[in-house]
Amino acid sequence: MTAFPPNRQSFSSHWLAFTSNRRFHQHPKMVSHAEGIFYHTPEGHKLYDSLSGLWCTPLGHGNQAIAEAINAQMQQLDYAPAFNVSHPLAFELADKLVEMAPGDLNHCLFCNSGSEAADTALKLARAYWRAKGKPEKSKFIGRSKGYHGVNFGGISVGGIGGNRKVYGQTLDAYHLPHTWLAENCFSKGVPEVGDHLADSLLAILEVQDPSNIAAVMVEPMAGSGGVIIPSAGYLKRLRALCDQHDILLIFDEVITGFGRMGTLFGADYFDVQPDILTCAKALTNGVMPMGAVLANTDIYHCLMEQPGDDYLIEFPHGYTYSAHPLACAAALASLNQLQQPGLLPKVADLAKVFEQAIHELKGLPLVEDIRNIGLAGAIQLTMESKQPLKHASEISALCWQKGVYVRFGGNNLSFAPPFICEPQDIREIFSRVAEAIQEYDRGV
Ligand code: PMP
Repeated sequence: MTAFPPNRQSFSSHWLAFTSNRRFHQHPKMVSHAEGIFYHTPEGHKLYDSLSGLWCTPLGHGNQAIAEAINAQMQQLDYAPAFNVSHPLAFELADKLVEMAPGDLNHCLFCNSGSEAADTALKLARAYWRAKGKPEKSKFIGRSKGYHGVNFGGISVGGIGGNRKVYGQTLDAYHLPHTWLAENCFSKGVPEVGDHLADSLLAILEVQDPSNIAAVMVEPMAGSGGVIIPSAGYLKRLRALCDQHDILLIFDEVITGFGRMGTLFGADYFDVQPDILTCAKALTNGVMPMGAVLANTDIYHCLMEQPGDDYLIEFPHGYTYSAHPLACAAALASLNQLQQPGLLPKVADLAKVFEQAIHELKGLPLVEDIRNIGLAGAIQLTMESKQPLKHASEISALCWQKGVYVRFGGNNLSFAPPFICEPQDIREIFSRVAEAIQEYDRGV
């Protein structure tokens, strides 16, 4: 294996995504292979994968059934044109997705990532209102701290300022307040307070008017924002307000989809039906890039029944790699495993261990809040410092030394271990993270 770095030039040729490259150049973190719940570095250091990659590999690394499905598909059909032509696995996968999805989300558009799914969903919402003869319904409402990927629609509706500030003009979008409340700090699972936050939609509508609004888009639980969980009635209230004002509700389930919260979707967890649902990540267990947008029957029929001849393209949108055969094969193999009767109950059981283990870090220095739901959680670190973001980055680096890959974003450390973990793995991860936090605190 090539030693890393082979030479200085190799640093600048690969410009890392969403990374402080300057920091990476000083402290490169590399993984060269993975199996199960572990990553390995080229130097032979073994690390727990505490975030399932980037929330996307719940079945762990090196999953045999997925590997076999991709290999078999490779022999059979490696690529099919996505436009005007299709292939059997695409229909099989779409059938499976709509069967798994809540309510009447009966129609599936494929893409290649969560970001593409977000922008596809936003375009679909606008196209729907146009087809309904209401083209002025074109603005969007997102939520502060929301993350919907990095394409222009996603950063417009998303509520993370840092992801949009250098890009100038975005789409017309307005933002609900985030659902993090100081009074909910250290709540376990769904917090008590916060249903009222949904009513902020009314203040936006008062100024913008519902006649101009296409859709509200939120994550059922804001993952990248730091596992911010809404109170139990919040999404129900948002749904009711959208219905009252004839606004579509889009759930971004890129993180919450496929069992992360112990239910198949966040919509199931909160018992709220969206009109459009986006997903990606765990759809293929992270093995192939793939996203999907599920739309309800009304949206589908409205676009299908537009006036025009048989040659009309009802939704002029799609990608060269939409419904890629290898991605479909990986997705079917993943979903078959996620649908095994024992799996979600196992996640629910592990979630109890996870809740206990993460909350044991309460009281450690710098720890300002701890949140958890299902097999997802975050430790929020204090921002009272001249370099607040440094804490999370440096603690994550110490975790790496201690054999745990920990993702930091803003002032949060996020956790979403694979579903194939054992209880002792979860306890071990948090015991090492606790050590890292204490060590870091002694050093500052
Ligand atoms: N939406 C949500 C809720 C996400 O968490 C992410 C990725 N973290 C995305 C969209 C974007 O997905 P991708 O990185 O695959 O484009």
